[in-house]
Amino acid sequence: MTMDDVLILSDKADVQPFYWVTEDDAGLDYCLSCARRVVAALHECGQGEAMVDGGSWANSEGDGARFCYRCGVMLRYSLSREGLDQERHYFEENGVDIPLTPAVAYELIQVEDAMQDYGQTWEKSAMPAASQKP
Ligand SMILES: [Zn+2]
Repeated sequence: MTMDDVLILSDKADVQPFYWVTEDDAGLDYCLSCARRVVAALHECGQGEAMVDGGSWANSEGDGARFCYRCGVMLRYSLSREGLDQERHYFEENGVDIPLTPAVAYELIQVEDAMQDYGQTWEKSAMPAASQKP
């Protein structure tokens, strides 16, 4: 399996844009449908100013994979420098389970993208040697 294969697989991952709710002091991440439900619940409690914010434009850089606080779906993210170091170390130490799931493929692609942004390359491939093309 090559990184091109990983990229194709990562497109099949169920990854949603990330949203948050204004007036939510906890700053939790949600998918759109959960953010809307939280806003509806806040409106019922009299917090009429609460709104859904975020979406595809939002910069979701962070230290690792992000998930909807309510339903657990993976949310789009990119890795910070610290996040890259952690994720990359994890994959270099542990490798990945084959067959790769689309979600793990998406995580690998975020590591790849961040390595390009920070001018890094793998010291040790996360892919099992047997699955690499010569
Ligand atoms: Zn959700």
